Amino acid sequence: MMDEHGRKINYLRVSLTDRCMLRCQYCMPAEGMDWLPLERMMSRTELLRLLRLATELGITRFRLTGGEPLARRDVVEIAEGIHALPGVEDIALTTNGILFPRFGRDLKRAGVGRVNISLDTMRPERFREIARRDGLGKVLEAVDLALELGYEPVKLNTVAVRGVNDDEFVDFARLTLDRPLHVRFIELMPLGSEHPWAVGHFISALEIRERLAEAFDLEPVDDHLTSAAAAQQQGGQAGPRGAGPARYMQIPGARGTIGFITALSGCFCDSCNRLRLSADGKLNPCLGSLHERDLLGPLRAGASDQELLDIFADTIYHKPAEHHMLELTDDTVGRQMSAIGG
Ligand code: SAM
Ligand code: SF4
Repeated sequence: MMDEHGRKINYLRVSLTDRCMLRCQYCMPAEGMDWLPLERMMSRTELLRLLRLATELGITRFRLTGGEPLARRDVVEIAEGIHALPGVEDIALTTNGILFPRFGRDLKRAGVGRVNISLDTMRPERFREIARRDGLGKVLEAVDLALELGYEPVKLNTVAVRGVNDDEFVDFARLTLDRPLHVRFIELMPLGSEHPWAVGHFISALEIRERLAEAFDLEPVDDHLTSAAAAQQQGGQAGPRGAGPARYMQIPGARGTIGFITALSGCFCDSCNRLRLSADGKLNPCLGSLHERDLLGPLRAGASDQELLDIFADTIYHKPAEHHMLELTDDTVGRQMSAIGG
């Protein structure tokens, strides 16, 4: 359905759990996370009921995220359940890759077609520093497997962190040369308890692009992966035809592309088609969590499908025109990224 600003909302990001086996510095504190009690998390039956209702309102594209979505044991059954819903066109996954070698094959069979794997560094010690755990080998294995299994596209999410991985940007860009990998540099967002840390390490997409331009003759890409209309359809980010500077580039002759996710410096709110559902059943129309609505509470209290549809529809209709992330303070910053799902 359309929201009040004329945007067609057809994409739902579903956080399957707030838990994760990593502790990325920009996402979670080193320790002391307050996990959702298990009884407050949606069961598979509850989740699939809500997702069925979402399809009735025109949601056709889903992304499974987290926390770490593969930390949820019934992730394959959930994907199968979504695949069986009427009208579903696309199921995608955002994962840190650690458990992907175990689940990637079954998820493909269950109907997951696209995968984003998070990879901020290709150096083992640095991986341990950023994620506060080991695991680079598994993530690299996940990338190989995703390509081998025919996931299309396979994207790498690389959060750009000044002073931490900015000396690897060129290496990441090179990954696109020989394989159809789509590397996306993500601007660091000041969220959760790591908010003050993130502000000091921010590096803009423009600066990343300038640094890459010193090494390569980047050219803008205008293909099915990147056009704003196609991105809208695919549930992805706006591409070069969206507002602001071009966001997808390519090294001439490369098989993959280089993207820039500019949540802060170049808002893509105009073409935003997404909603988020948290693992405890809160529907959020926009990053920042100031407008979320509870669906699980009413569902458990016996709400009818129509009552739940009304909440869904009202949340979609009132999706804010734009995010207010730069206005969030330590007091209002809300959920950790791990609970929002990125
Ligand atoms: N655990 C999965 C993963 O890491 O891909 C899925 C959830 S994670 C929250 C989704 C994406 O958000 C990841 O690509 C992660 O790098 C990114 N992310 C987390 N915190 C962020 C932050 N503060 N700024 C920008 N991106 C962030
Ligand atoms: Fe876990 Fe993903 Fe957050 Fe890293 S970014 S701590 S992998 S949820």
